[in-house]
Amino acid sequence: MQIVLLGAPGAGKGTQAKVLSKRLNLVHISTGDILRQNVSDKTELGVQAKGFMEKGALVPDELVKQMLANRIDEPDAEKGFILDGYPRNVKQAQALDKMLDEKNMDIDFVFYLDSSEAVIIQRLSGRLVCSLCGENFHIKNMPPKVVMTCDNCGSRLYQRSDDKAETIKRRMEIYRQDSAPVIDYYRHKKKLFQVDSDEDAELVLDKITRLIQENHDSCKV
Ligand code: AMP
Repeated sequence: MQIVLLGAPGAGKGTQAKVLSKRLNLVHISTGDILRQNVSDKTELGVQAKGFMEKGALVPDELVKQMLANRIDEPDAEKGFILDGYPRNVKQAQALDKMLDEKNMDIDFVFYLDSSEAVIIQRLSGRLVCSLCGENFHIKNMPPKVVMTCDNCGSRLYQRSDDKAETIKRRMEIYRQDSAPVIDYYRHKKKLFQVDSDEDAELVLDKITRLIQENHDSCKV
């Protein structure tokens, strides 16, 4: 099964993808996580991507497309995956269709996590991420048990450099301009399910799970 999660930064794509990937036994592919890893490893891709990411801009389509194609080609993605952070514009959505066509695969579900701007800003400005395992926390909504320390693995938490107020603004502008049209792209293809994601993560997960059960005969979630 192939699932795409759409929504603004902070809508909860990463949180939902992590839990869903365990429940459905699908690989979680986050283009943002792969890019951050490349930046931290100072790979050629990371060096090229860094400046765009720091500004809150999109990394050029060709770079991300190739990176995703490589990831989808890995054996663990054969049984299906959850895409988080791709596609980010209509060109990427078309590229994804082509990529999957060539592998005789299709997208089963697109969930659009719909959040209000006030909730998004509150979530992003308080978000803390584990420097090792990538687990997300929130200063107020989901604080770690020990200050700035990951509950999962004990590593240090940090604030993403693109979660600063000015960069959040820029990312939201880009989302409205480039990424929002992707919602209509999948709506026309009748693959889109819209889910209110202002609510708690557990409630959002319940809704997504129910939609999968109701619309996919062979799936036990
Ligand atoms: P995310 O973790 O999904 O919020 O992504 C963090 C940053 O990585 C974005 O602000 C972009 O700079 C870059 N990025 C992630 N996914 C993509 C993509 N599909 N296309 C272009 N840039 C991306």
